[in-house]
Amino acid sequence: MTEKTIKLGKKKKNTFMDKVKEILPEGGNLNLCLTCGACSSGCPATGLENMDPRKFLRMAALGMDDELTSTPWVWMCTMCQRCIYVCPMKIDIPQLVYNARDTWPRETRPKGILGSCDMALKNESGSAMGTSPDDFTFVVEDVLEEYQEAQPEFKDMQAPIDKQGAEFFLNQNSREPVTEPDEMVPLWKILHLVGANWTYGSKGWGGENYCMFLAEDASWKHLVQQSTDQAHELGCKTFLNTE
Ligand code: SF4
Ligand code: SF4
Repeated sequence: MTEKTIKLGKKKKNTFMDKVKEILPEGGNLNLCLTCGACSSGCPATGLENMDPRKFLRMAALGMDDELTSTPWVWMCTMCQRCIYVCPMKIDIPQLVYNARDTWPRETRPKGILGSCDMALKNESGSAMGTSPDDFTFVVEDVLEEYQEAQPEFKDMQAPIDKQGAEFFLNQNSREPVTEPDEMVPLWKILHLVGANWTYGSKGWGGENYCMFLAEDASWKHLVQQSTDQAHELGCKTFLNTE
């Protein structure tokens, strides 16, 4: 096994850490780390690419910008925020990771995330699979009809799309209408049995936001806006985010 020697050199001015601190509330708290390791112990990405959240933060504190902005580990972080939850100092490591991702030229970012973000921007569904509003509507209506007929106890079940004045605006995992449409039904059944007044939107129904994982602010915002605009237009009071 070969050991890689890391040269620290002099701490530079205007480091990556400084830039991140500028955008965090009250100057951030990234330099308050106690090195306790609680973040690393619960992080699902610990050990991948020879990195963990505590190490990542220490490297930021040491001004190792080149390493931070080139390690593929940043793409392993799930943005789950578990590290913030357990951190005694509430240090926002995912924000640091997000900003490191943002330094990568777009075309060099992971193809899966990039492609899913581009698909979601393709039409007004916001679907990571690129499914159009018409195709989504067709699948939902088709599956609903099938269950109403096959299971008489659910003959009155509904799966509304663009129902004006519904209480709940529900979004949907993009993959299910395409690859596993039956997987949509259990939630419909629950909503039916509890008598919920709900609807999908024909626009903005896609539940994931790969553009957030891509660290592309404008696209992330666009997808969120598209969904919330539709919820507002339908007069829904509660946004049910399934993703
Ligand atoms: S949990 Fe917080 S204080 Fe502890 S090592 Fe991680 S970032 Fe530092
Ligand atoms: S947000 Fe990222 S760094 Fe923090 S625990 Fe989750 S995967 Fe690990």
